[in-house]
Amino acid sequence: SSDKIEEEFIAKLEEKELDKEVKVVRTGCFGLCEVGPIVVVYPEGAFYSHVKVEDVERIVEEHILKGRIVEDLLYTGAKAEDTIKSIDEVDFYKKQRRVALRNCGAINPEDINEYIAFDGYMALGKVLTEMTPKEVIEEIKKSGLRGRGGGGFPTGLKWEFTAKAEGDQKYVLCNADEGDPGAFMDRSILEGDPHAVIEAMAIAGYAVGANQGYIYVRAEYPIAVQRLQIAIKQAKEKGLLGEDIFGTGFNFDLEVRLGAGAFVCGEETALIASIEGERGMPRNKPPYPANKGLWGKPTLINNVETYANIPQIILKGADWFGGIGTENSKGTKVFALGGKIKNTGLVEIPMGTTLREVIYEVGGGIPNGKKFKAVQTGGPSGGCIPAEYLDTPIDYDSLTELGSMMGSGGMIVMDEDTCMVDIARFFLDFTVEESCGKCPPCRIGTKRMLEILEKITSGKGEPGDIEKLEKLAENIKSSALCGLGQTAPNPVLSTLKYFRDEYEAHVYDKK
Ligand code: SF4
Repeated sequence: SSDKIEEEFIAKLEEKELDKEVKVVRTGCFGLCEVGPIVVVYPEGAFYSHVKVEDVERIVEEHILKGRIVEDLLYTGAKAEDTIKSIDEVDFYKKQRRVALRNCGAINPEDINEYIAFDGYMALGKVLTEMTPKEVIEEIKKSGLRGRGGGGFPTGLKWEFTAKAEGDQKYVLCNADEGDPGAFMDRSILEGDPHAVIEAMAIAGYAVGANQGYIYVRAEYPIAVQRLQIAIKQAKEKGLLGEDIFGTGFNFDLEVRLGAGAFVCGEETALIASIEGERGMPRNKPPYPANKGLWGKPTLINNVETYANIPQIILKGADWFGGIGTENSKGTKVFALGGKIKNTGLVEIPMGTTLREVIYEVGGGIPNGKKFKAVQTGGPSGGCIPAEYLDTPIDYDSLTELGSMMGSGGMIVMDEDTCMVDIARFFLDFTVEESCGKCPPCRIGTKRMLEILEKITSGKGEPGDIEKLEKLAENIKSSALCGLGQTAPNPVLSTLKYFRDEYEAHVYDKK
C-alpha cells in the first residue's frame, strides 16, 4: 500500500499546486514495522502511523495547507494517551543510535544526490586524497569494529591480512546472503542506503589493493537487488565507481551476484564457491580467503552491516566510533526484533545496552499482559537467554558466556506460553534442512538430534533421550566442518541449560 499512498500524495499535491514546494520522498525502512505504513512530514517531523490511502487528503489539506497536525493519525506510542508529535519523541528511537541505519528512512535510496547531500562519498574522497591504504587500515583497526555477520572478527585485522597477502589480483566481497529466520538487517540497509555499502567497498578496495568487488545478495531480496543495481549505475555515471575515481588513478568496479537462497552460502568459503559457479559448499580453512579466496586470489569478505559503518568511521574518526559501545564491542548493533514483543521492527542500539532496555524500552514490552520468558539471539546459531539475565549488556562476549551469540542480529522474544523444547526443535529443523551434507556430524548428527526432539515433543520421549541429545550436541559442536554445523546445537544446548525442566516434563510427565 505504500506505492498507492505515494501516488496519492503526488496526485493531491499536484491538484493543490503544491508539488513545487513539497517533495514526496520514498525512503527505506524506518525500523518501526509494527505501525507502518509511516509518513513523516517535515519540518515538524510529525510521525503518522498506519496511514491509509484515504488519509492522504486530510494530511495534505490540514497539515500541509493549513499547518494543523492531524492528531488522530499521529503515532500514539505504547500508551494511547502519549500522542507523539514528532519522530524525536518516539520511545522506540530514544535508546537507539543509528550509525549503520543512519540514512534508512531519511533519504531516497534511488537518488545518489540524496546520499551525497548526507555526506555521501566524502569518506571515499578523503581516503583517496588524504590517506595511504595503510592509514585507512590503521583507522579501522583503531575503531575496534568487529564483523557484524556473526563471527565478530576484528575488521581492521581482516583488511590488514588481505592487504599483506601476495597476489596480482585481489577481490572485495560483500556477504549479503542474510538467511537467519526472521532477520532482515542487511536487507533494510541495502534497500534503504545502498550507496553506504558501495562506498565502503570502494574504500576497502583501496585499502587492500583490490579493484574488483562483488556483492552476493540472495535472489529473494528483489528490491535490494534492484536498488543496488540503480545505485551502482548512478555511482558509475558520477565517476564514483569505475576508472580513475576522483581523478586519483584508483579504479574500482562492482557487480552484483545472486544467491539462490541456501543458508550455508552465508558461510564465506561457500559463498566464494557459489560466485565461482561451484555448488555452494564450505571449504576447509586454512587457507583463509584473505590469502586464497575467490578464484584462488586474496579476498576480503565482510557483511553488509560491517561495511555500512565504514564511511562514518572514516569521516568521524576511530575515536568517535570507539566512544560508542563497550571495551571489546565497539559501536552499535542492528537487531531484527520479533516474536512476542509490542514493537516488532529493526533497531540499532549502542553495544552495552541491556537486553531489558531493548525488550522493554525500545520494544515496548510483552503484549497482552504476558510475562517474558526468554529471548533468542543469533538465529539458528544462537541460544535462548532466560529472564534472570535480562540485565546482561549486549556485547559479543556477554552473549557467548550465556551460551548464545550475537550472530547477525536476529532477536526473538518469547512469552510465558512458549514451549522452549518446541523452539529448539524449530531451529534444529531449519539447520537440518539447510545442512549442505558435506560432513557427517552435521549431515547425520543434526538429523538424529531432530528425531530425538520430535520424539520428545510428541510425548514419546524415554528416559535417557535428554542425555543422548546432549551428547550428540556436544559431539557435533566440536567436529562439524563449518560454522553452520558447529553452532547448530546451540539452541538445544542453551534451552537444556536454562529450561531442562521443560524437557523433563515432556519425557517424564508426558506433556
Ligand atoms: Fe555442510 Fe554442515 Fe558440514 Fe557445514 S557443518 S560443511 S553445512 S554438512
